[in-house]
Amino acid sequence: AQNSDATPKPEQNLRSPICCIMGHVDTGKTKLLDCIRGTNVQEGEAGGITQQIGATYFPAENIRERTKELKADATLKVPGLLVIDTPGHESFTNLRSRGSGLCDIAILVVDIMHGLEPQTIESLNLLKMRNTEFIIALNKVDRLYGWKSRRNAPIQQQLEQQSRDVQNEFNMRLTQIITQFKEQGLNTDLYYRIKPKDMGETYFIVPTSAITGEGIPDLLLLLVNWTQKTMVEKLTYSDEVECTVLEVKVVEGHGTTIDVVLVNGVLHEGDQIVVCGMQAPIVTNIRALLTPHPMKELRVKGTYLHHKEIKAAQGIKISAQGLEHAIAGSGLYVVGPQDDLDDIKEAAMEEVGTPICIPQRD
Ligand code: GDP
Repeated sequence: AQNSDATPKPEQNLRSPICCIMGHVDTGKTKLLDCIRGTNVQEGEAGGITQQIGATYFPAENIRERTKELKADATLKVPGLLVIDTPGHESFTNLRSRGSGLCDIAILVVDIMHGLEPQTIESLNLLKMRNTEFIIALNKVDRLYGWKSRRNAPIQQQLEQQSRDVQNEFNMRLTQIITQFKEQGLNTDLYYRIKPKDMGETYFIVPTSAITGEGIPDLLLLLVNWTQKTMVEKLTYSDEVECTVLEVKVVEGHGTTIDVVLVNGVLHEGDQIVVCGMQAPIVTNIRALLTPHPMKELRVKGTYLHHKEIKAAQGIKISAQGLEHAIAGSGLYVVGPQDDLDDIKEAAMEEVGTPICIPQRD
């Protein structure tokens, strides 16, 4: 890395893509997240999966292991995948008025038995508005009458194993759903049927079951392959801090803290930061940069690790003075030595003026 003559390979400096899960209530967003987290979280080291603040981190090694049945001799160039833990926080793709949204890619979950539902369409509109890439998980395939399951199996092969009746029902429902997407102005198809020339024009559909794990290898591989293939620039690590506030929370011993996702750049203890406040911008200094202790449940109290600095992409808890009126969904700005504080305050507050439409869950 010290050799400045060597042209750095872009992949050496890619950050993890950030993914969120969206869709209508009861389509299986929470279950899908649990399923991709799998038992690995409890088993600890095995999967190398780490629980972060508001997010789960999947190292490339874990993804490689879980997708090996697909034999997709993929070179994983990104260090891993960061999945936001709060499905239903569709608002986060919407709230930011400046810069890019929080998520690089979304999983839009559709229940194969129900097709497109009102919040599916709301999610779609948010994704279009924010220009966010997404992959469709056509979930609950195990509910097709007569479906034969095999845990965590890749989906194409699994579909081929089904009886004629199951295949017919699957095809009928798939065709209906493709038509519904078409009515929303989108071309979609089973991901493995899409020809290379249509990629980028036609959205990927991955049939999944969050109960049996079928199709999950496909989903993981697509998320990683597609982001590292099409978003090299966006995923190239930069020093400019890009950071979004997920939640504002009181934590015993820390006062009011903010949970943030650091999308790009580095945060340091002591950094001067600006976040959007209810009435006025909040200017403060980072007192502590916290992450959960590995392998401890997030909700257990007093189990945070302190860091001098943290590099993107990660979910972090920040403790600082004066965060009581911080607004979730807004950006966090770092004041650098060259920066004009007033400009940054103005930038931070611009987000309040954004029309906010938060799709309500339930
Ligand atoms: P959310 O509201 O989108 O987060 O949906 P949940 O994850 O809470 O799931 C709603 C219901 O559907 C729960 O009862 C889940 O157990 C069930 N469910 C979710 N995914 C699947 C699936 O793939 N197959 C089946 N059979 N049930 C599922």
